[in-house]
Amino acid sequence: MVRVRLAPSPTGTLHIGTARTAVFNWLFARHEKGVFLIRIEDTDKERSKPEFTENILEGLTWLGIDWDEPPLIQSERLQEHRQAIQTLLDQGLAYRCYASEDELHAMREVQKAAKQAPRYDNRHRNLTTDQEQAFQDEGREAVVRFRIDDNREIRWNDLVRGPMQWSGSDLGGDMVIARKAPADQIGDPLYNLVVVVDDAAMGISHVIRGEDHIANTAKQLLLYEALGLETPTFAHAPLILNAEGRKLSKRDGVTSINDFRSMGYTAEAIANYMTLLGWSVPEGMDERFTLTEAASTFTFDRVNKAGARFDWDKLNWLNAQVLHSWPAEQLLDTLTPLWQQQGWQRPDDTWCIKLCALLGPSLTLLLDGVDQAKPFFEMPALEEDGEKQLSIEGAREAIETLAQMIEDAPWDGLEMDRAQALLAETAKSAGVKKGLLMKSLRAALLGKLQGPDLLTTWSLLAQIKQDLPRLRRCFS
Ligand code: GLU
Repeated sequence: MVRVRLAPSPTGTLHIGTARTAVFNWLFARHEKGVFLIRIEDTDKERSKPEFTENILEGLTWLGIDWDEPPLIQSERLQEHRQAIQTLLDQGLAYRCYASEDELHAMREVQKAAKQAPRYDNRHRNLTTDQEQAFQDEGREAVVRFRIDDNREIRWNDLVRGPMQWSGSDLGGDMVIARKAPADQIGDPLYNLVVVVDDAAMGISHVIRGEDHIANTAKQLLLYEALGLETPTFAHAPLILNAEGRKLSKRDGVTSINDFRSMGYTAEAIANYMTLLGWSVPEGMDERFTLTEAASTFTFDRVNKAGARFDWDKLNWLNAQVLHSWPAEQLLDTLTPLWQQQGWQRPDDTWCIKLCALLGPSLTLLLDGVDQAKPFFEMPALEEDGEKQLSIEGAREAIETLAQMIEDAPWDGLEMDRAQALLAETAKSAGVKKGLLMKSLRAALLGKLQGPDLLTTWSLLAQIKQDLPRLRRCFS
């Protein structure tokens, strides 16, 4: 039975890397008809916050990722973590290290001077009882370190990267598994230890996470062995890189799923795009898919080893595809709260749905649905190109003629034949070309020359009696 988990640390909002890891775990679980679980790794008391847990879970739900059991809270399992450390101490596989900060610093300086990689030199690995007593008498506290044999070869078969091999000597010396505490106690257990204890307790069959955890995997495999626990299978997903090929970071502007949401991306497009960040679709499959569709074909042999470059054009293309495929009603449901934030009074649903149907095909981001709807809710300012159009000889007079005709025989905006007739009559009576009139009408209604279909725009504005005021301000 496949059991996988996402193990986010609630020290920030849902990060794109974590979300992508969630997607891969979820896709694999659903593909294998297994179980997808969440473990909140909140043992860093200072940096963990309940609002981040909430944000992470809410963000996953928004993306369409569900989990099969209530999230496990790591900090509630402190006793189990301490017990495991005690077991390692009892078996002599771990020991207390009393080295002070100053001593460790001095040790690193020597290594630096000798151009060696920084590592703990295992100096307290074999203290005698008397030596330990002497340190304790000095009032020193101790961390607990796990022995790592330099000569050990660590091997695993990574589902993404194939056969992996690490040497114990590359792991930086004996590893701290519990923070400093008085020697009769066990301090706060640390990441590599708690992950192993919890993954084993949760019966995790596959650990799927980012490539930045590869060295941790090597260390964790040694802990599984020492604790006599069955090892899971590992899969390390490639890093997400920015356009320059460096790891995507805060400096790239957006890293949190919140940021993408507030920029107007849809959950479908983000979930779709994150899947493509590292996974290539099987031949014949469209690059646009739902998570459920991707789950039906998801396997790790299509996950790339190389880092995945973040490509805004592709994400924008996907988002546009999603928005263009939505029925106008769905677009209206999604845009309504955004319009409300602008303080816009919404006319009736029929009108709004027509507006959404008009704007939908030209949207890339949801926020375009705010920008482009704006001239329908607020009197638009005349922009440079609009002003220029209206300065053409005869343009303002033609608009005035049109306004006069509407005033004489009001148009309710519903009969499109009437709009055509009004334009023909106006062009004739004002003595201008129909093309000039239409461009000027667009400038008058929208303030600029870019925009959706002119007659539909006019019809919608006429229905809410907002066409005349827009025409009038051009000549009064
Ligand atoms: N809390 C770790 C992180 O957020 C979990 C890593 C893992 O999946 O083991 O990076």
